[in-house]
Amino acid sequence: MIRIKNISKVFPNGFVALEDVTLHIGRGEFVYLVGPSGAGKSSLLNLIFRSEVPSSGEIYIDNFALNSIKKNQIPYFRRGIGMIFQDYKLLPRRTVYENIAFALRVMHYSRARIRRQVTQVLELVGLSEKLNHYPSELSGGEQQRICIARAIVNNPPILLADEPTGSLDPDTSWEIMQLLSKINARQTTVVVATHNKSIVDDIRKRVVGLENGKVVRDKELGPYEG
Ligand code: ADP
Repeated sequence: MIRIKNISKVFPNGFVALEDVTLHIGRGEFVYLVGPSGAGKSSLLNLIFRSEVPSSGEIYIDNFALNSIKKNQIPYFRRGIGMIFQDYKLLPRRTVYENIAFALRVMHYSRARIRRQVTQVLELVGLSEKLNHYPSELSGGEQQRICIARAIVNNPPILLADEPTGSLDPDTSWEIMQLLSKINARQTTVVVATHNKSIVDDIRKRVVGLENGKVVRDKELGPYEG
């Protein structure tokens, strides 16, 4: 599903963010990418999402070889990936419903289909009553749930999350991770970049450790370290 072969990422200023990373993630897996700030976690997610390109090495996502993907194929490729950003990126002047429906409108789905999919995903994330609210009227945890809903509303096989609990309190972080586990149980492959040690130790999943741009460990059921 996700095959990363000998990837390196060197930024124009010469900084080596990733060095010879090889990683295979199978369909339906749940993987934590852990490591200190600056380890290369976001860079790796950005390469998988094809918002960055590697300096060397190859990436294959399902049937797409990212090294040779054509520009006009990238939107189709991205339809198969939901991305959750740490800073939410919700549209402030749109309601919850509109924020989620937005991604579907560009695909020219019928109004009935959009309504059905948005309603279903709001139920899944437990925010059905908030559909007419604006993002500023929601708590941080609720905003993150909306971002998750937006990322998965079209059922992508892969969900990427960059520090999804970065600005949340411990209880809310726990609830968000439980939600990601629930989504994973529906056969979505989930990759979460995090340095939230207590969550990684409590909700045991595969842990890939990055340090200074290199994979330093890969353990089936964690923990965060060791
Ligand atoms: P993490 O997500 O683990 O905190 P990142 O992937 O964001 O790490 O960053 C890895 C390193 O690459 C950091 O030291 C960061 O400063 C550096 N970096 C990220 N983007 C750029 C860029 N555009 N140019 C130069 N260095 C960058």
